[in-house]
Amino acid sequence: MPKSKAYEQAKKNLAREATLAHDLFTVATRNKIEPFCDTYRAFLDAAKTERRAVREIERLATQAGFVDLASAATGEKVFINYRGKSLGLAWLGRASVEDGVNLVVSHVDSPRLDLKQNPLYEEVGVGLLKTHYYGGIRKHQWVARPLAIYGVVVRKDGAQVDIAIGDDLQDPCFTVLDLLPHLAAKAQAEKKMADAIPGEKLNVVIGGWPIGAKDDGKDRIKLNVLRLLNEKYGLVEDDFVSAELEVVPAGPARNVGIDGAFVGGYGQDDRVCAYTGLRALLDLGKQPKRPAVCFFMDKEEIGSAGNTGAEGRFLLDFLGELLAREGKTSERAIRRALARTKVLSADVNAAVDPDWQDVHDKKNAAFVGRGICLTKFTGSRGKYGASDANAEFVGEIRNLLTANKAPWQTGELGKVDEGGGGTVAYLFARHGADVLDAGTALLSMHSPFELAHKDDIYSTYLAYLVFFAKA
Ligand code: MN
Ligand code: MN
Repeated sequence: MPKSKAYEQAKKNLAREATLAHDLFTVATRNKIEPFCDTYRAFLDAAKTERRAVREIERLATQAGFVDLASAATGEKVFINYRGKSLGLAWLGRASVEDGVNLVVSHVDSPRLDLKQNPLYEEVGVGLLKTHYYGGIRKHQWVARPLAIYGVVVRKDGAQVDIAIGDDLQDPCFTVLDLLPHLAAKAQAEKKMADAIPGEKLNVVIGGWPIGAKDDGKDRIKLNVLRLLNEKYGLVEDDFVSAELEVVPAGPARNVGIDGAFVGGYGQDDRVCAYTGLRALLDLGKQPKRPAVCFFMDKEEIGSAGNTGAEGRFLLDFLGELLAREGKTSERAIRRALARTKVLSADVNAAVDPDWQDVHDKKNAAFVGRGICLTKFTGSRGKYGASDANAEFVGEIRNLLTANKAPWQTGELGKVDEGGGGTVAYLFARHGADVLDAGTALLSMHSPFELAHKDDIYSTYLAYLVFFAKA
């Protein structure tokens, strides 16, 4: 039976139709995706922690002609590095900062295991390091896998030592032990998953050979580890007190699938948005009308507190510095700049998991391969804690993306009363700026091996690019 004309027309002209980014991309665009993702994987490998991400971002920005704001009284391309853990990057526009900026704010910290301040001990012939996990991890995902250690130690002589062990194949790596199935029946298998691996058992194997001779007494393995750390880095045990050492999955990001459609790797929440935002700013080509700004924030995964997190006055300080260069130092100028600023809160959302489709509302969730995900609100249990973007700003952004052929979709994190989460959106909205969450949808989010579809990675880049170019 042929369908009626009224039905056909309504379906074609009125109803919403989900489209794959692949089908929207031209062949020329499709050909740019692989090389883009090659550089993205290299970024993930160079940026396993917030400090290394900031270092890599500063390196790439400097290469592209950006200079430290502290040493640049003039110039269009500037950055401020905040304690090596957060960074603000701006390509100043033809218009005044007082008229507002176009800001893409991502975060560069990811869930991981942090070493405690007195971590080192030995038990039953194994040298170990105690950890306190950082952010939302699922503990069973962190055992029985190769791990690397990154971070800094401030020694008692005041010198700062940079540590990076476990990703170079010449290096040893580390691991957290897990129980064999033969002995796990009572200790783990009958327990609730969340209780099966207690946080205090997430201890990292650091050594197994003793120092000295058999009658020397206890802690020979621990002391041998200390000897090695002292030889290589000049450390003593007390130096762990002033250390930030982060245990992360070892190994590079990879292409996933026989067609290589996905990038698999650690830390894509939220370094996928950090990298696509950075590249969009660097690739702008010509000076924008409104200043184009990227923030790369620390501490998002533990609530954005601290002087390197988005709870701080980073935005005010940054805009204040930029306004001062225009000779504008009044509170009113900053307040005007804030209220006229447009923000994409560049953070990831969850894509519908093919094996766990029932945790999503599939009419409103994001899917891999359908472009950047716009999330009007986050929060949980009645949108609690969400900044909930204004319809006007959502309309502005969706029309901008459609007009510029940047594939986009919408997303919501899980079913009502089942899911929930938050981003830094509200921390920027509270200054009066317009804010919308817009980022890549991931599979296996917060795991040691997250997946992002390459079409979504590239769509995210395209979206930030047209946002920066927007007058
Ligand atoms: Mn995130
Ligand atoms: Mn997260």
